[in-house]
Amino acid sequence: MAEETIFSKIIRREINADIVYQDDLVTAFRDINPQAPTHVLIVPNKLIPTINDVTKEDEPALGRLITVAAKIAAEEGIAEDGYRLIINCNRDGGQEVYHIHMHLIGGRPLGRMLASSSQI
Ligand code: AMP
Repeated sequence: MAEETIFSKIIRREINADIVYQDDLVTAFRDINPQAPTHVLIVPNKLIPTINDVTKEDEPALGRLITVAAKIAAEEGIAEDGYRLIINCNRDGGQEVYHIHMHLIGGRPLGRMLASSSQI
């Protein structure tokens, strides 16, 4: 059984967060440390620690992450200019909270996908 993170408490509304969307499958709330004018995290309500743990039965919730991202991007007024969706996985991916979450980031030009580096 995976260990709950603070995101489960946010989903159950046991602690404060700026929730912008919630339904039976996913919850979206503003990142506490925003990296751009719009920085929203969209998470499955079910605790799935990482992308490595997903199963076929999770496909409806994972698909919902995308449709909700598009809806929030439109509401935030960033759909036309564009934005970035990111899911980090494990240590090398930079994952800090082990409850799958999709970052929706936009509202300014985001530059190249990865910081340029000579290391491949
Ligand atoms: P990651 O590195 O992909 O695991 O991203 C975790 C994100 O969760 C970071 O951007 C944090 O700023 C964000 N975060 C951590 N705790 C909270 C919280 N209580 N409310 C909103 N965002 C949070």
